[in-house]
Amino acid sequence: MKNDLALLGAESKKFVFAEHGMMIGGASTQASDGGTIPVFDPSSGDQIAVVPEGTVEDVDRAVKAARKAFEDTSWAGLKPAARERLILKLALALEEHAQEFSEIESLNSGRLIMNTRLFDVDLSVDCLRYMAGWATKLHGKTIPVSVPYAPDMDFFAYTTREPVGVVAAITPWNVPLGQAIWKIAPVLAAGCTVVLKPAENTPLTALRFALLAKEIGIPDGVINVVTGYGAVAGAALVSHPDVNKISFTGSTDTGRIIGIEAARNFKKCSLELGGKSPVIILDDADLSQAIPGAAQAILGNHGQNCCAGSRLFVQESIYEEVLAGVAKIVESVKLGPGLDPSSEMGPLVSATQQERVLGYIRSGVEEGAEVVVGNSAIDHPGFYVKPTVLANVTRDMKAVREEIFGPVLSVASFKDTEEAIAKANDTVFGLGASVWTKNIDKVHRMIPRLKVGITWVNTHNVLDIAAPFGGIKNSGIGCELSEEAILQHTNIKSTIVNVD
Ligand code: ADP
Repeated sequence: MKNDLALLGAESKKFVFAEHGMMIGGASTQASDGGTIPVFDPSSGDQIAVVPEGTVEDVDRAVKAARKAFEDTSWAGLKPAARERLILKLALALEEHAQEFSEIESLNSGRLIMNTRLFDVDLSVDCLRYMAGWATKLHGKTIPVSVPYAPDMDFFAYTTREPVGVVAAITPWNVPLGQAIWKIAPVLAAGCTVVLKPAENTPLTALRFALLAKEIGIPDGVINVVTGYGAVAGAALVSHPDVNKISFTGSTDTGRIIGIEAARNFKKCSLELGGKSPVIILDDADLSQAIPGAAQAILGNHGQNCCAGSRLFVQESIYEEVLAGVAKIVESVKLGPGLDPSSEMGPLVSATQQERVLGYIRSGVEEGAEVVVGNSAIDHPGFYVKPTVLANVTRDMKAVREEIFGPVLSVASFKDTEEAIAKANDTVFGLGASVWTKNIDKVHRMIPRLKVGITWVNTHNVLDIAAPFGGIKNSGIGCELSEEAILQHTNIKSTIVNVD
């Protein structure tokens, strides 16, 4: 089996092997103390690059650059239509570099090229175009007021939407470019500026994107990228007094720390956190659709999705058939480097993640779960884990309670819809859930009772830029994508005019 580096195109190689700098105020910048972070190819475990290890001082410089750009006429002074045109130009440039971005992303994150193309590039191009349109549509309202203690006076009241200012965007490693652009696009459309800190192990596409934005004429300082560790650069960014909004996607534990820090200074904050999403298959479902659907719900992106369908609940009468069907699909998955088009699942992102996922499987086994398929690394360098199905699981098992963020599915049965809803909601998370049935009455009875932010019927993990995406409970606050995301980058101002 080859590794990803051997499969990389010439254009992508040129970027990967170049010297990498952070983007601060439009300049490629090394860390203030010269520190670097190694970057690996997960398909071999080999180091492929280094990026600067951003310091507190670097974060401060980046926030100052973002503040300056926010106040500067070349950005804040742009008419909405001019901002829209620039964002559309950026979308086109990304589309034209689609192959290069997908390759770099697959190399750095280990994910399938089909996946990085669809989710990191194509969906991001859509996102930029969708948000570009909002630049000209951020209007307020006129409000008929009747001030009760001044009955003889007339007033005219209206609201306006103003950009929040400097945004700190902190992203994880599972869909690195996608997560970055889903945050940057509404920032640009609202007229804000951003300091992005990508995950330490997947920084390459964010750096390439910042260069692209500069090439097409996004003013210096509007998009800044500081690479670095979460505990240093990330923490400095979150606590920086001149940041107005934090937009975070990542684990629930880190989200909690960030939410507390944001509250300290009353910063706006959106948190898209972990999940343990249920997939519920009722006995009247079309199993030719539901079985592959349930398998894909956990296999997609190697299970490294916050909304991955990691808990499968199947009605008793069809339990054995569904379990066998899903297990057969999971067992047949061909592991290989993400850049090999014949691979069906790549390596996990890092040695740490590989060990973490295997640890969860071990804990499941120790607590009495039955391994139906999977449960091992493979005899090859790189961070591969065989996708795994666990049956005979109970609600108390660590592998059932906690987010694994890998290709591990737990399967349990239920008697009736009441029990299905109770089991589905029996988690601290509340991100996604899917129901598989042909009975429309059951759909409408069940969907309102599922305590999650996004529900699917006869499908799972489908995202669209125009549909809000976000969780409740320990899965976070606020939304990504859609009109909701752009509004979260604005402050609403009320104005009341005395027209007497
Ligand atoms: P994981 O454990 O999978 O790396 P995290 O939620 O810790 O997930 O990481 C998501 C992002 O949050 C990464 O960019 C990481 O560097 C950043 N991060 C981690 N800790 C902090 C922190 N204390 N403050 C700000 N950002 C952080």
